Amino acid sequence: MKFEDMSIQDILKGYREKNFSAREVTQSYIEKISKYDSDVNAFISINEDGAIRAADRIDNKIAKGEDIGLLGGIPVALKDNISTRGLKTTCASKILENYIPPYDATIVKKLNDSGAIIIGKTNMDEFAMGSSTENSAYKKTRNPWNLECVPGGSSGGSAAAVAAGFAPLAIGSDTGGSIRQPASFCGIVGLKPTYGLVSRFGLIAFASSLDQMGPLTKNVKDCALSLQAIQGEDKMDSTSYKGTITENYVENIDEGISGLKIGVPKEFFQNGINNEIYESVYNSIRLLEKLGATVEEFSFPATESGLSAYYIISSAEASSNLARYDGIRYGHRTDEYESIEDLIVKTRTEGFGQEVKRRIMLGTYVLSSGYYDAYYKKAMELKNKINLTFKDALSKYDILLSPTSPILPFPIGEKTANPLEMYLSDIYTVNINIAGLPAISIPCGFSSSRLPIGLHLIGNHFQEKKLLQAAFSLEQELGLDSRIPKF
Ligand code: GLN
Repeated sequence: MKFEDMSIQDILKGYREKNFSAREVTQSYIEKISKYDSDVNAFISINEDGAIRAADRIDNKIAKGEDIGLLGGIPVALKDNISTRGLKTTCASKILENYIPPYDATIVKKLNDSGAIIIGKTNMDEFAMGSSTENSAYKKTRNPWNLECVPGGSSGGSAAAVAAGFAPLAIGSDTGGSIRQPASFCGIVGLKPTYGLVSRFGLIAFASSLDQMGPLTKNVKDCALSLQAIQGEDKMDSTSYKGTITENYVENIDEGISGLKIGVPKEFFQNGINNEIYESVYNSIRLLEKLGATVEEFSFPATESGLSAYYIISSAEASSNLARYDGIRYGHRTDEYESIEDLIVKTRTEGFGQEVKRRIMLGTYVLSSGYYDAYYKKAMELKNKINLTFKDALSKYDILLSPTSPILPFPIGEKTANPLEMYLSDIYTVNINIAGLPAISIPCGFSSSRLPIGLHLIGNHFQEKKLLQAAFSLEQELGLDSRIPKF
């Protein structure tokens, strides 16, 4: 088997059995990236020297018989909004074009401590705003399953990197679906953990009450192992979960789902869902029943209003978070200016792309006096309603199930002129961020045009283990893990 086809578990087994070295693995991934990333555009920058040095350190440990860590010798691609000390972190924005963070995000520290090897930084929608990775200031990432289609977004570079076999693990961020929707579009597994389970320290903020980072992998077991490495309390993030998670996500992952109660929000299967997605997800529902789960429909009336609430809340928070890019403290500064105000206005006009400007304007509008009650306050009321609907559903069911997105990966350029249509691709994912719940997308089939289809499982707060067990059972039954397209 080639390294690019291997799962994290396969690579770790190879190290244990001394079949190959971390340097060989890392070099092979770097070679594949240099050969094929010009087709896919998954990466903004490659950490070639750093990765080889890290691989050598792992090989030294292996030679000495020392513990290499949970992810020892596993190459990982990081979304370019995750701060990496000494490595450019651009957020795919011109405003951070040459920004080199002076510190590592907590997740980066944890990955380093567990022996993972940072192989590069991946492309994304600017400041994670988008659903197709077309909003990057640098390049458009292509879907490895069909290079004419988008990989989804905003973590499109991370998803494409795993799908193309450029890395066995990538980290993305998910504010309204940006791990799960690209995972679904690229035929891989993507998990958004419970809000607070993974420290956000060092993740460049988009909407702080919704942002959460998580793994993108070829299969569910790899996802479980990666989550184990990155979770945990962090004093640098006041919203991180205070307490110790004793759960081992990999252990008993194959326990099965006999007796599991699954709820299906019926509104998630109406209005504009693609027929093949509908069929494919229902096929999985039947498989879950065969495996011993009971499946029942319930009503989720706030489906569409959730999207409106999400765009109001996320834009409001973004308008405040992005105020710091003023040409004085970070990144780009305009060349000529006449006053401080002129400096700020010109810097921001030049530095931000169209979608980011749209969100900042929307955000300042909904927060401004006179409109606050009409928009922001209403969005907060909707948030309460959404929370209650989930609370009620999750008191009856162990897990909720839906498609990840109502649409298939679409051709590059098809939706760029119509932001509302683009926003609709996240209709099933945004509510989960509003409620802070964990959710995973796993591949559940292919369309007649050979495009991947994703299935979305949602759990209760901190019930990642149950979620992963259900996802694992279904994955085994479907036999869709560890596939990568040949291109
Ligand atoms: N696509 C959604 C948006 O544009 C979600 C983005 C995200 O999760 N980062 O806001």
